[in-house]
Amino acid sequence: MNSLKKNYSRREFLKTNLLVGAGAVAALGSTNKAFANYVSEFSTTPAVLGGHPALSSHDWPAWPIWNPKTDEKQLLEVMRSGVWSRGKVVAEFERRWAELCGAKRSLAVVNGTNALNTSLAQLEIGWGDEVLVSSYTFIASVSGILFNGAIPVFVDVDPETFQMDPDKIEEKITPNTRAIIPVHILGLPCDMERIMAIAKRHNLIVIEDACQAWLAEINHKKVGTFGNAGCFSFQNSKNMAIGEGGAIISDDDDFMDRCFSFHNYGNPYGSTAGQIGTGTVRIGTKLRITEYQAAIGLAQLSRLESQTKLRNENAGYLKSLIKEIQGIVPYKLTPNVNQAAFHLFPFRYLKDDFYGLSREKFVDALNAEGVPCSSGYNELNKMPFLKNAFNSKFFQKIYPKERLDYEKYAEENMCPMNEKLCNEQAIWITQNVLLGSKSDMNSIAVAIKNIRNNAEKIKSKI
Ligand SMILES: *Cc1c(COP(=O)(O)O)cnc(C)c1O
Repeated sequence: MNSLKKNYSRREFLKTNLLVGAGAVAALGSTNKAFANYVSEFSTTPAVLGGHPALSSHDWPAWPIWNPKTDEKQLLEVMRSGVWSRGKVVAEFERRWAELCGAKRSLAVVNGTNALNTSLAQLEIGWGDEVLVSSYTFIASVSGILFNGAIPVFVDVDPETFQMDPDKIEEKITPNTRAIIPVHILGLPCDMERIMAIAKRHNLIVIEDACQAWLAEINHKKVGTFGNAGCFSFQNSKNMAIGEGGAIISDDDDFMDRCFSFHNYGNPYGSTAGQIGTGTVRIGTKLRITEYQAAIGLAQLSRLESQTKLRNENAGYLKSLIKEIQGIVPYKLTPNVNQAAFHLFPFRYLKDDFYGLSREKFVDALNAEGVPCSSGYNELNKMPFLKNAFNSKFFQKIYPKERLDYEKYAEENMCPMNEKLCNEQAIWITQNVLLGSKSDMNSIAVAIKNIRNNAEKIKSKI
């Protein structure tokens, strides 16, 4: 059959002939008839209906990246040294991470979840307190609040940015509110300037969940350095991949000393040492990372800055291409963001502009074209962990009955914009795609356009 040839020639065409640069924007618009015809000639059948995919999965850089030549020397040294528990390589990793973030101190811990737990605990946020948190996020942004005994209060999002909406924060503040956890979700920064101003006005602690936002910047200042503490994750799927790992950054020496102590059984450290020989000084646990994790981290750090730049370039370019497509609304950055992390590339899908093709079918169709994507988060504020926490013996012992009225809580924590993103509109493309080439970005845009052109057919056939 000539389908292979057709696929080859289409790939060839896309790789070699699609304009690279701003010109491609015009080329994808309907004004350029010659181009539109050429593309449609090669793309009459979307992959989901049996045509050839616009891209194949092996086109994307695999994740995580590991380069034996450059990355294994230090790792092998650690393995052969027999010093595997926390030592000088972890300290070196912390020094480098603090430096890259522009923070005074950094503490490596076992994961991002415990970076958040530790920060909350060492800022003494817990029983009786309310903590404001973005509604559009991963479970770990919220679970740490309950873990420390506090009650999460969900703030709705701005659907254009996917971030906590600063206009909706103050209406949620009560006499019990102690802290805000802005989450730089998808690697796009929250509006920290406005959030910090609100926090200052109401005397609230700010813990940034930057677990998806390594090296993202607002006015050339890294996220994680705006609040009292910044928390990061180095889990395997993250842009800074160690397998498991996390970090807390802060300029507050006393706080960082307390965090160190907490992550090391509560044993004395720095200013928390107290009198020599007094022994363990606080409630603590053990959250130390190993020397070999730090060695892997140092290898990943060596490419994080250049990868971040590439993701930003490709994201901006892909955004410029797909915003031309009716029914596709790419992310908007909050004011003064000069670099995002792009853990994900988000856009909103408006099915009415796609002849009513459901988001699930659109995602299937785009995946079939070889573009890894998903419909993203479910609504956290309606999951059973909240009601179960309220019903637990712990919460019932500490809180008066009226504060554990779940029906009332659920009503007060409705987030209609978040609901829309979760249930109808959000679509993510994974971060490794943004390490591809410009012509890959062109192919993604062509694939989306082709799905739109065939939306009615796809709707009836799959
Ligand atoms: C990944 C993540 C976490 C938790 O990090 P782990 O290292 O997986 O524990 C917390 N918050 C957000 C927004 C995350 O994406």
